[in-house]
Amino acid sequence: MGLLTVICPCYNEEESVELFHQEVMKNTDFFREKGLELEIMFVDDGSRDGTLAEIKKLRERDERVHFVSFSRNFGKEAAMYAGLEKARGDYAVIMDVDLQDPPSLLPEMYSYIEEGYDSVATRRVTRKGEPPIRSFFARRFYGLMKMISKTEIVDGARDYRLMTRQMVDAILSMGEYNRFTKGIYGWVGFRTKWLEYENVERARGETKWNFWKLLLYSIEGITAFSTAPLSIAAFVGALFCLIAFAMIIFIIVRKMIFGDPVSGWPSLVCIILMTGGVQFFCTGILGQYLAKTYLEVKKRPIYLAKEEA
Ligand code: UDP
Ligand code: MG
Repeated sequence: MGLLTVICPCYNEEESVELFHQEVMKNTDFFREKGLELEIMFVDDGSRDGTLAEIKKLRERDERVHFVSFSRNFGKEAAMYAGLEKARGDYAVIMDVDLQDPPSLLPEMYSYIEEGYDSVATRRVTRKGEPPIRSFFARRFYGLMKMISKTEIVDGARDYRLMTRQMVDAILSMGEYNRFTKGIYGWVGFRTKWLEYENVERARGETKWNFWKLLLYSIEGITAFSTAPLSIAAFVGALFCLIAFAMIIFIIVRKMIFGDPVSGWPSLVCIILMTGGVQFFCTGILGQYLAKTYLEVKKRPIYLAKEEA
């Protein structure tokens, strides 16, 4: 028998774990017929509620349940990495515990793997049930990424993806500390089939993301998969130099022709403020990349496990 590992990152999800297990295991018969056994690899991302206890309870009943538990909250990116690392399956799929990634899609996804695809990815075509500002900024983010990154990052793409062992190993070979899985998926390539579905609302519990966390995450995405902001900074710098140069010539010529005394300090103040602002902004961009490099160079582990089974 082959093995399909379902990787499930959980952070404070005690209400959802059991329901998730129940829904995923409904696919058992389908996959047995295909010669695949299911296993679930829960990654407890330093939950402070009874998530780990719930997982252990499941494990007592069902030996196909495995888990890694982190020493603290390392974030979903680290959790996905740990899950992929611990997965023993010939195939692996990453899924949210809140059933927003419908487990009923698995048979269809697998049928494409049988057809010869290396991975089957999913994207939401609607964002209903999501706060409108969140959708608005998410759309802008994907639009921006399309412009400035060579790596394909698809709007509405989920982390929900079924992959072959070969692709899992490729992802694991990218041991970077600043992880942005949606970009990593695109970067490693392979033949990918996209499935679309309507947004499903969270079954239980609450979202773990707020606006601020998402904003920081999007900066992560930009700096991890594009260096365009650095070029933009350099370009803006050069542009300002040119403008300044043209203005100096203009002032010198005007002085020589009209003998105009130095006037117009308010405009001067505006220009100084503006160039100052642009400089700070550009230094900030540089700082962002430097900070990421700093963290990368330290080679800290992506996660620390406290317990696993
Ligand atoms: N999650 C995690 N660590 C975190 C935040 C979230 O492992 O620090 C997990 C969470 O338990 C869930 C998945 O990531 O299984 C997606 O989170 P959520 O449903 O809150 O995000 P949303 O669907 O609202 O984007
Ligand atoms: Mg969710």
